[in-house]
Amino acid sequence: MSEPFVIDEFQESVLDTVRRFNAEVVAPVAAELDARQNPDDCFSWDIIEKADDFGIRTMTLSEDWGGIGADSLTTALVIEELGKADMGISVVMAQTLKIAQILQLALTEAQQEKFIPMFRDTSRGLLAIGITEPETASNYFVQHDAPFQTKAEKIDGGWELNGMKHFISNGNRANVYLLFAQTEKGKSLAEGSTCFLLDRSLAGFTIGRVHDKMGERLANNAELHFHDCFVSDENVVGEVGRGFQVLVDFFPASNAYAAATVIGTATAVYERTVEWAKSRVQGGKPLIEHDGVRAQIAEMHMLLDIARTYVRKATWMADNRDKGWDPALAAFPKVFASQAAWKIATWASEIHGGYGFMRELGLEKLVRDTAAFLHSDGVNRTLLLKAAKMIF
Ligand SMILES: Cc1cc2nc3c(=O)[nH]c(=O)nc-3n(C[C@H](O)[C@H](O)[C@H](O)COP(=O)(O)OP(=O)(O)OC[C@H]3O[C@@H](n4cnc5c(N)ncnc54)[C@H](O)[C@@H]3O)c2cc1C
Repeated sequence: MSEPFVIDEFQESVLDTVRRFNAEVVAPVAAELDARQNPDDCFSWDIIEKADDFGIRTMTLSEDWGGIGADSLTTALVIEELGKADMGISVVMAQTLKIAQILQLALTEAQQEKFIPMFRDTSRGLLAIGITEPETASNYFVQHDAPFQTKAEKIDGGWELNGMKHFISNGNRANVYLLFAQTEKGKSLAEGSTCFLLDRSLAGFTIGRVHDKMGERLANNAELHFHDCFVSDENVVGEVGRGFQVLVDFFPASNAYAAATVIGTATAVYERTVEWAKSRVQGGKPLIEHDGVRAQIAEMHMLLDIARTYVRKATWMADNRDKGWDPALAAFPKVFASQAAWKIATWASEIHGGYGFMRELGLEKLVRDTAAFLHSDGVNRTLLLKAAKMIF
């Protein structure tokens, strides 16, 4: 069993692989992809295929399924490392690594036999989860008494799905999806929704707009549209009307994975800032020797350390829930990490002076990227309300 605060030999070798992938595949092209105008063009299949070659894409599959069975802590370490090279790539992989874990835990044997090879056996296999709708968004986090607008009505042998989701990470790129739809009229989404497994080729399922985002551009987010889609009874995950239980039971590490991504990017910001402060001379000495700057950079280091410690605790606990799991750990780590990262990004930008604002240095991409997690994986205020509900 891995230790929460010590990186073991196995994890170190996995991280070495990710560092090589970052250096050889992602770092050389990230800025150029980010700068493309059309959000569709910012995504690179070449990077995904190389992630497959490096064994990253499928590393959370068990050895029986052809992966290395990375546990939640190891997965968070990988996601953080990816975030150092590019936030978008970290998100594309985080969604895939996380949902692959869930497929192995939440699906029946028959469902696994069908859907895991579908994702595994193509080097472009990616995974996505569709919850958010234009009118039903934070309601999901605060469990407000309202239904999803996307509905699945019972028909012979299955369900007829109608509606739409938006903002979905990997929405236009995945080949297997987890989708939440309202199956019981007159109930809230927490009590009357069901989780379905969808394959990309489902008749009546189309991809809508690809969202144009200010950052995290190497990942695509898109709308999913459903028009009279027939989904078989065999594609129901868990129990009908108990979709939320799937999230509660099988997503404990999800929030910490989001935190890991933004910590990775904030670490890149921090490292650049240390280098900058050592080499930039003003007032007769390097910036790092000015007490105000020096103290602020030390505080960045501390914030990163705390955020990382929190992720390690949450991910280790997620796999060892009998050892004192606190459900608020499924809400807090991302709140802390995203707030810390935003502080770090804006401080770093200021420490870089005018250069912090200029595209040529590359820091501004990291600032735009860092903003993503103030908005993604639940807006922080709603995550605090979710945690409050659990605590009080
Ligand atoms: C980059 C990105 C990737 C995403 N990926 C996915 C994905 O893969 N799958 C998916 O399903 N979703 C995804 N989302 C959606 C995301 O998880 C958020 O839930 C969603 O963006 C928040 O909804 P909204 O924008 O409609 O905000 P709203 O729900 O309209 O909230 C607006 C503001 O009101 C506050 N607020 C809302 N309700 C309350 C309340 N009851 N009490 C107090 N304050 C409240 C919120 O905190 C927020 O500040 C993604 C979003 C982004 C930005």
